Amino acid sequence: MSDIAAIVAEIAAEMREATERGQVADYIPPLACISPDRFGMAVVTAQGEVFTAGDAEEPFSIQSISKVFSLTLALGAVGDALWRRVGREPSGSAFNSIVQLESEHGIPRNPFINAGAIVVADVLLSGHEPREAIGSILHFVRALAGDESVIIDERVANAERETGFRNFALANYMRAFGNIRHPVERTLGVYFHQCALAMSCRQLAMAGRFLMHDGRNPATGLSVVSPRRARRINALMMLCGHYDNSGEFAFRTGLAGKSGVGGGILAVAPGIASIAVWSPGLNDKGNSQLGALALERLTQRTGWSVFQPRPVA
Ligand code: GLN
Repeated sequence: MSDIAAIVAEIAAEMREATERGQVADYIPPLACISPDRFGMAVVTAQGEVFTAGDAEEPFSIQSISKVFSLTLALGAVGDALWRRVGREPSGSAFNSIVQLESEHGIPRNPFINAGAIVVADVLLSGHEPREAIGSILHFVRALAGDESVIIDERVANAERETGFRNFALANYMRAFGNIRHPVERTLGVYFHQCALAMSCRQLAMAGRFLMHDGRNPATGLSVVSPRRARRINALMMLCGHYDNSGEFAFRTGLAGKSGVGGGILAVAPGIASIAVWSPGLNDKGNSQLGALALERLTQRTGWSVFQPRPVA
């Protein structure tokens, strides 16, 4: 067994025994009913090897991890013009916070907080029906993962809409500033459906490959985004991907990472690996408690880090 296979198996065994597992998100029934005992991990290396452990084949609600894919698509659609409507600074606030929007004139701090991702969804809606925009996100994620079986869970999307009062508030508030250009129900229809993407750790780690390969999908050899854009998406993930817990995540793992309230984390070690972990129990900032711990142990045991010195070519 290779070192990585042994490390991944060992971490999954340790996580099975962990007692402090955090709290499962309970704002919608489809998430509230998931057992906190679940844990999965998948590592795809730059050489294309895949290592999995635990519940790595079990689809879960990727929630805010979808913000990485929608941002990538929106940058492809409108390029750097996107940055006129959404910022690139860590917010230091909760994922669903509204406080900064008033003083910052309806321009969200970054594309990974809810307000920013709702603007990104609004960009993807331009010139399309909501179902077309949703279809293009699904199609994109399937192509990145190389797996046509990825689906959107309609029960989750409906529950998001029924309970999404804060997201409606954020969207309406930004519409008042002119930064949401479509009726909020339509923009949020896109946002709620992307949050409802269901993927396994294996599928998610596969979908993240382009971010470890400087923007190229290794399966097709085609470039998804330019190297510069891939590096910038990784930079944003590291600085903003865990909301007001982003500093802590970077400190502990040294990786670019994006979390979701379903308990998943997609992490990238550029040139080395794309990693997905899933454990539904969340810490008080809404990020997977054991997911972060598993990534911390993985990076300690492998030495992987964005900051790992590499030979200068
Ligand atoms: N659907 C959730 C929301 O919009 C996503 C948040 C998250 O994963 N952090 O509130």
